[in-house]
Amino acid sequence: MKISLNGQLVGKEQAVVSVFDHGLLYGDGVFEGIRVYGGKVFLLKDHIDRLYESAKAIRLEIPISSAAMIQATKDTVAANGIGDGYVRLVVTRGAGSLGLDIRRTSHPQIIIIADTITLYPAEIYENGMNLITASTIRNHPAACPARIKSLNYLNNILAKIEGTDAGTVEALMLNHKGEVAECTGDNIFILKNGVLKTPSPDAGILEGITRNAVLRLAREAGIPTQETTLIRHDLYVADEMFLTGTAAEVVPVVSLDGRKIGDGKPGPITRRLLELFHEFTRRVDA
Ligand code: PMP
Repeated sequence: MKISLNGQLVGKEQAVVSVFDHGLLYGDGVFEGIRVYGGKVFLLKDHIDRLYESAKAIRLEIPISSAAMIQATKDTVAANGIGDGYVRLVVTRGAGSLGLDIRRTSHPQIIIIADTITLYPAEIYENGMNLITASTIRNHPAACPARIKSLNYLNNILAKIEGTDAGTVEALMLNHKGEVAECTGDNIFILKNGVLKTPSPDAGILEGITRNAVLRLAREAGIPTQETTLIRHDLYVADEMFLTGTAAEVVPVVSLDGRKIGDGKPGPITRRLLELFHEFTRRVDA
């Protein structure tokens, strides 16, 4: 495996960063997860734009242009011969002193890993996923905004642990107002009376790239969409529910906190959107 580290393709063993890197010491950095379909990096520009926006929000200046980042990503995928896989792009603050002051760091580290991908089990796409609501609320947007895809994922990890303990592979997170936010690594959608609904970015969520693609595909297919406030009751009485994410794509949800969603089977519009999404992955150019 060849890893891209600061523009150089090196072996796994040579791909190392300092123990003084603030990415490690403080989770001070940003990242992206991107899919590769048929050798093409899917929605790469959208992911790179989000990476640079995350970096800007934390006052991290990425030392290369976004065009160079796009090229380096494509080169890393090609160097590893990845047909269908996953790219992890990481930019850390770089090594510094033992202290939070970003002025005492230098040389942000740019890491690009192109690998194969582990998906949710096929059974989940067939029969749907069970979900629980975690007691851990999503980060307050005025504390550490979820819009920033930062290296500090403890908020999500704490909720994920609750899901794992309850025997689910994902967990729903509410925001500080008790409204539906998102899952630990996926956005959430429901269908109610033919309308596709999902929380808006101001619910304090990551604005998922798969989320945005699914909203677009739904509108093109004539399905009305709403980005709106949702509470758990809306979810319990939904006709259909699904999650979206780069790794997950579109995954049906059939129960939440022990309440059956709809008839307890993946719904017809969910299935249709999954098909439309698969078709989109084959159609879209890098
Ligand atoms: N929410 C969170 C917290 C995430 O980490 C992710 C990405 N795994 C998503 C939503 C989905 O975003 P995307 O579709 O851009 O992968």
